[in-house]
Amino acid sequence: MPVIKPTCVRDLKLRVNLADVVSRMVTLRKAGGARLKGLCPFHNEKTPSFHVDADKGFYKCFGCGKAGDAITFVRETEQLNFTEAIEALGKRFGIVIEYEEGSGGPSTADRTLRQEVFDLHEVAADHFFQAFKAHDATGDFMRSLWMEQRKFPAELADEFKIGAVDADGGGLGGALLRRKFSEEALRRCGLFFIYDDAAITLPALRPRFRGRLMIPIRDHQGRVCAFTARQTTLTPDDDPAREAKYVNSPETPVFTKGNLLFNLDRARTQVGEGKPFVMVEGQLDALRCWSVGLKTAIAPQGTSITESQLVLLRRYHTQVECFFDSDAAGQKAALRFLPMALKAGLEVRFLTLAGASKLDPDLLFLESGPERAHEVYRGLNRETAMAFACRAALPEVAGASPEAKSRAAQSVFEIIANAESEVSRSEFVNETAAHLRLPVAALQRDFQGFSARPGRPAAARPAGEPTFPPPAQAAASHTPEQHLLMLLLHFEALGPPLSASLPHDWIDTGHVAGALLNRFIAEFEQNNWPGRDHLETLLESDAERALIATLLFETPAIDDPAKVAAEGLRQLRARALEPELRKIELALATPGADGDSDPISLLKRRSEIQRQLRQPISLPANF
Ligand code: ZN
Repeated sequence: MPVIKPTCVRDLKLRVNLADVVSRMVTLRKAGGARLKGLCPFHNEKTPSFHVDADKGFYKCFGCGKAGDAITFVRETEQLNFTEAIEALGKRFGIVIEYEEGSGGPSTADRTLRQEVFDLHEVAADHFFQAFKAHDATGDFMRSLWMEQRKFPAELADEFKIGAVDADGGGLGGALLRRKFSEEALRRCGLFFIYDDAAITLPALRPRFRGRLMIPIRDHQGRVCAFTARQTTLTPDDDPAREAKYVNSPETPVFTKGNLLFNLDRARTQVGEGKPFVMVEGQLDALRCWSVGLKTAIAPQGTSITESQLVLLRRYHTQVECFFDSDAAGQKAALRFLPMALKAGLEVRFLTLAGASKLDPDLLFLESGPERAHEVYRGLNRETAMAFACRAALPEVAGASPEAKSRAAQSVFEIIANAESEVSRSEFVNETAAHLRLPVAALQRDFQGFSARPGRPAAARPAGEPTFPPPAQAAASHTPEQHLLMLLLHFEALGPPLSASLPHDWIDTGHVAGALLNRFIAEFEQNNWPGRDHLETLLESDAERALIATLLFETPAIDDPAKVAAEGLRQLRARALEPELRKIELALATPGADGDSDPISLLKRRSEIQRQLRQPISLPANF
């Protein structure tokens, strides 16, 4: 088991800015002082309660209570262990990781399966990319397919590492075996068909993808986690999925179809005011958009969009333009997308092209070329959610019967009911009335009736929003240890006098705060206190890191910290000594009940305790 040098951990924490680490996943905005805030990656929320203090290097969510530092953040968001999280940060920020002598370096055996499957995909993507670039029959064929048939630029293939695999599977199995990936990783990576009881040898690794153009799929952090394979004329007849135009990796430890949006890793860095996400149907549509400079395009994995994809999307930006084919399948997909988008609190527009019977982003931008793409994109019609829903429900409003309009309204109500706020639902009903040319008041009443139907919740709960205890609850349970710990962190000069007046046996080390206070006091006694911004080497568990982060985020309004600390000491002293005093008094009051203790020594001990309890506690205030 490799052990990273504590000095290296400390160095890494100094050099890595927590804001840079977090902003890979969370869009952060200024929140006053050195603080930043954004939507919490650990729970689903609509208003930011996830705070980052980049100076102190700690984060804390006031919604769900998650707190920690750069290392905990990487551990929790990427499911890595401590060592792996540090290695990942080192790699990302160009910091060399040093290991304790004799503990070994980063070894294949110690990587978690997930990390290994990610690494394996990176190797596979490279392997396929080299085959695409190779000047041989397969490479030449795939490049001409890419550039001449599909008319994609060569640079785009380089940028997205487009790959190729020949009809035999391209020797991927051998390449991975040479790289010493574990049996488990090879079984679970989804790139091979393997019989359960087969030993992992080269012949047992039957490639899933053969004779196809390979598009690497990256998760929102940019890690290759799967592939989409496009059928070509090289796809062999004995491919079990011969007829499928596109074949995706199956679900694996690193790939859940419903959680992933193609190109989100890049698009999320491009969105902003006036630059909404553009949801297209397929990966090639998204690639086309990217190649003409529309860099916020994303695509679901396969045909259906899921709620969790939209929740993920919402973390980065709330505006989405839906740019689906105008064919029946595309419109159906758009209608499926709409209620989920409203539920996730997204602001949706539907892109349409006036007078065009067929709207296909790939074709449209292929025709326009990069020069005119922006103009074409700007010139598209943008339909609101309700305009789109009403048109779908009733294409011809003029001349429609009241019954037809009423039926249409009911189907639009089904969509509106997904919106989380009363205000937006009411606005949507008003808009519907205008589109269907119905009296607003009557339609509002109809919607009330619709909402009141049995089985229909009064207000739709936002997608997957779990309930959390109020944030203040955790803080209410402050023990004297926790209180002193907080004072120590905010008024570090209290450390030396506090350590001089606080005997270790007064501290209850049975809980996290006590254990930490005990450890910190010892550091002060030995003149070893590293400073509150360099506590990493003193913290032993995630619970400890979380508590420290929480306490650092408190802004204590304290005029006289020494006085408050003295009060804390008094509480600890009373808690440590008073029970013994009561026991002694009980023993003195009932002579003989406790045969062992002699009254003289009991009396002596009582006056000693009484003396200690009377002793004034004060800490020097001059710091
Ligand atoms: Zn949270």
